[in-house]
Amino acid sequence: MLIVTSISELQREISRVSPSQKIGFVPTMGALHSGHESLIQRAVTETDFVVVSIFVNPLQFGKNEDLDQYPRPLEQDKAICKQLGVKLLFTPSVTEIYPSEEETTIVNPPTAMTSVLCGKYRQGHFQGVATIVTKLFNLVRPNVAYFGQKDAQQVAIIKKMTKDLNIPVKVQSCPIIREKSGLALSSRNQYLSSEEKEKATLLYRSLSKAQRAFQEGERDCQKLLQIIKEEFRSPQTPLNKGGLNLNDSLNKKGLNDVNIQLQYVEIVEPETLQPLTEISDSALIAIAAYIGNTRLIDNVILTVTKPIIALDGPAGAGKSTVSRRLARELGYIYLDTGAMYRAITWLVMENNINVEDEESIASLVANVQLELLPSDNLQIPVTVKINGQDITKEIRTPRVTNQVSKVAAQSAVREKMVALQQEYGAKGGIVAEGRDIGTNVFPRAQLKIFLTATPQARAKRRLIDLQNQGESNIDLDTLIKEIEERDYLDSTRAIAPLKKAEDAIELITDNLTIDQVIEKIKSYLILV
Ligand code: AMP
Repeated sequence: MLIVTSISELQREISRVSPSQKIGFVPTMGALHSGHESLIQRAVTETDFVVVSIFVNPLQFGKNEDLDQYPRPLEQDKAICKQLGVKLLFTPSVTEIYPSEEETTIVNPPTAMTSVLCGKYRQGHFQGVATIVTKLFNLVRPNVAYFGQKDAQQVAIIKKMTKDLNIPVKVQSCPIIREKSGLALSSRNQYLSSEEKEKATLLYRSLSKAQRAFQEGERDCQKLLQIIKEEFRSPQTPLNKGGLNLNDSLNKKGLNDVNIQLQYVEIVEPETLQPLTEISDSALIAIAAYIGNTRLIDNVILTVTKPIIALDGPAGAGKSTVSRRLARELGYIYLDTGAMYRAITWLVMENNINVEDEESIASLVANVQLELLPSDNLQIPVTVKINGQDITKEIRTPRVTNQVSKVAAQSAVREKMVALQQEYGAKGGIVAEGRDIGTNVFPRAQLKIFLTATPQARAKRRLIDLQNQGESNIDLDTLIKEIEERDYLDSTRAIAPLKKAEDAIELITDNLTIDQVIEKIKSYLILV
């Protein structure tokens, strides 16, 4: 990793990057934490040459704000960037960026966007952000720039600015990274005492409560805002059941000494930031509060479209049982990808087409109408219709089972099925499982779960299944070995190897019942 401090060195290094290489850029103010790291990691996976800048930009700090106090652990930040695979780190001084005493040009985004939310309380802040980001974009000339959704107003303004000024960069917003307690990571969390840190979970807790009300059907913004304001009035209220248990310790300790003050809470349209009265599509609830002397912000996005839940993980961890139950309990569609391939196989056979005849099969699938509908019967995961005909039962016959892998291996069939799965995804409200579901089919699924269990636990479950089926001459050690071998093969195979998506939540099910797994997944839903 190269570290440069001057604009001329930066420009020289950028001019050396081959035009065929994609430049990814992560602008930061340093004091890097896992939130920053998630942006850098994404940049490293999606682009060829990652540039990070660390610059505490005086232009975006108000007179009485924390410019001097802002943490600057530069050596530690350098080590993090190097370890994550950053190619070029830019750490300029203030005089390098703003050399003259004269007034500099200020980029002024639309007042409608800078005068709401934080803009009301931090005058000149977003003009300062827009100015430094424009300057950095001009110097780094990135293809993609990564920003955290944590600063939702900042991302919305930068997206609008790049569009209005035709700056040729894709602005990618990335999910908020939180501590287990729900507290959004921020360089400013360093200012908090441990009591204040506990109290600070109130921001997310109150947002979650409003989010839950929204999920239960509340669309009136005044009512949703009221829920949050209420939480700030009575911080001792225990967290709603089924949500993250953030509040246990808050109830035990006397934290009333910590002064907590809500600065604002608003519900706005996520792109334009204009206030909403009723939510018909999507909305941003943004909040700012003082915890002692530290000002923190947080937000959640609400979308009327239900999310996609993608489940992945090794064989035998309980994926399909969990997926079916979860879909049923949530009223979502269980996207039974196996059933889709079975349906096509049935159609091929019904039309007397040879299962090896790729050409005829390709033209057959080109115009196929395939529907998956929720089923109320736990034994039948989904109702399947092909060209209007209900074939739920027919696809489970041995005739279909014997041929399905030959049909499913054909690229025309696979492409059509993935496209169809993605069409279902666009409507939302689905639970999908499968090897590459979170990495390839739904890389932007709102909730990704990597369901796993140790080989020992999976072998024990399998042994019980086998014993229930009357098989008694298999021992646990043989099963453990078989599972370990299969895991190895699955994770090293060339096509679609088993791999945990970067943003998946790993859920180890060794000591959990199916009910407990389902409850856990439901509680994660609140995070999306
Ligand atoms: P900052 O150093 O505070 O200017 O932040 C640099 C970038 O990291 C911005 O795009 C932030 O939105 C992003 N960021 C900060 N905290 C988080 C977080 N907890 N999760 C995701 N992104 C974050």
